Amino acid sequence: MALSEFSLIERFFSHPDIVRDDVLIGVGDDGAQLRVPSDQTLVVSIDTMVAGVHFFPDVDPADLGYKLLAVNLSDLAAMGADPAWMTLALTLPQADESWLQGFAQGLSQLANGHRVQLVGGDTTRGPLVLTLQAHGFVPAQCIVTRAGARPGDRIYVTGTLGDAGLALRIMRGEPRAAVVAVDFLRQRLLRPSPRVEVGRALRGIASAAIDISDGLIADLGHILKRSRVGAQLRLEALPLSDAYTTVFMNGLDYVSALSGGDDYELCFTAPAHQHERIQAIAGECACPITCIGEIVEEGGLSITLHGEPYQPSSPGYDHFANG
Ligand code: ADP
Ligand code: MG
Repeated sequence: MALSEFSLIERFFSHPDIVRDDVLIGVGDDGAQLRVPSDQTLVVSIDTMVAGVHFFPDVDPADLGYKLLAVNLSDLAAMGADPAWMTLALTLPQADESWLQGFAQGLSQLANGHRVQLVGGDTTRGPLVLTLQAHGFVPAQCIVTRAGARPGDRIYVTGTLGDAGLALRIMRGEPRAAVVAVDFLRQRLLRPSPRVEVGRALRGIASAAIDISDGLIADLGHILKRSRVGAQLRLEALPLSDAYTTVFMNGLDYVSALSGGDDYELCFTAPAHQHERIQAIAGECACPITCIGEIVEEGGLSITLHGEPYQPSSPGYDHFANG
């Protein structure tokens, strides 16, 4: 049954499970009224997902709702921010109840886990496009940016790299893989884990950070550019999942790990003396953190495999270059 715009909003987006006391006015008025704690600054990030570009149109709507928030929480995590609120702009071809039900459920599942409240949005008719803006807090002095990497810093990544990119390659027909591996890799593509706790714990420890959405090479490249430094990466140190290495049993292919995109892991730099603290954070947050190289003064990004120079075949995803 088709719903009107207002009954749709009332039904799926007006009754948040999480009710925060810093929300003075949420969904239902012309704007939301929100209180930022006096000792904090506001960090805002927005992402759009377009059917056919960022997801297959027939994907489970619960996975979509989950991922739309996950990619935004990942951005907040990279800044060291604590998520608080979100606004949601939906462009829908039709008001399909079961689709909306699934979407709202997937979105709430992740939002509830991070105490994020939906405080407003916009709903229009048109080709399927989903936009979410996430808002979080960080004390002014604690913000982590892309610009602070210094020569001698170590380079770290959370989790494992390339799983989502490899899932996409497999779904497109190459390479072939066993069902268990495909299930794991697909799950990593559909439901990325935003590293919110790690990001928060890295305040005052990381010198620079970024979340990996377009592939390690491309995103580490942003840190290098903004920090005006170079880097040396050791390919054999990259954290790869068992599923990833199983797929490449007959010869490891690093393309997805380096340039696959959609990882939503953090890449960050920190002075060498923070190494033990970083290992402790990995334990506290139950999230692997791996040192993959060092920041150097200049020379862009150089990659070695067991000491030999390695030339990557593709730099990373760029919507305009690839489109
Ligand atoms: P306006 O016309 O004043 O912009 P709308 O009629 O678009 O307001 O929206 C009514 C209320 O519902 C507003 O509070 C708006 O923030 C909220 N809203 C609209 N769409 C969504 C959505 N997809 N998710 C959450 N809140 C929404
Ligand atoms: Mg209005």
